[in-house]
Amino acid sequence: MLNWVEFGIESPLEMRYVRDVERAHGLPRGTPQVSKSARTRTDMVYDKWSTLVELDGQLGHRGVHETRDAGRDARHLAQGLATLRFGWADVAHRPCTTAQLVGQVFRNQGWKGKLKLCPQCTPPPDESPWPPDPQAR
Ligand SMILES: [Zn+2]
Repeated sequence: MLNWVEFGIESPLEMRYVRDVERAHGLPRGTPQVSKSARTRTDMVYDKWSTLVELDGQLGHRGVHETRDAGRDARHLAQGLATLRFGWADVAHRPCTTAQLVGQVFRNQGWKGKLKLCPQCTPPPDESPWPPDPQAR
C-alpha cells in the first residue's frame, strides 16, 4: 500500500486526485509539491508534459488569493508551463471527465499514452454514443 505522506501528498484532495484521476486512468505520474517559481509550490508537476496541476480544495483560493494564483499561472505560462486548476467537485465527483481533460492536455504536449477506463468510466464515445444522437438512423 502506498504511503501517501512519504509520497509527498498533503491533502485528501491530492490523495483523491492521484488515486481516482491519475492512477485510475493510467495517466503519467506527476511529482507532488514542486516549486517552479519563487515562493510557490505546485501540487502536481508533470515536467515532461509541461503541465502543472493545482488542486484548490479551500475557499482560501478566492478573492486576493485568486488574483495571486492568476499571477502565478501567468508566470508559469511564460516559462512554457500550462496550469490546470481543479476543485473538489472536479476530483471527487467528476474524476473521469477530469482525467480525460488532463489526458488531452498531455496529448497536446506529445503524450502517446492511452487513458485507461476506470470502473466508474462510461464507455468512450466511439463505442457507445452518449447522449444518443437523435439524427442517427
Ligand atoms: Zn473513469
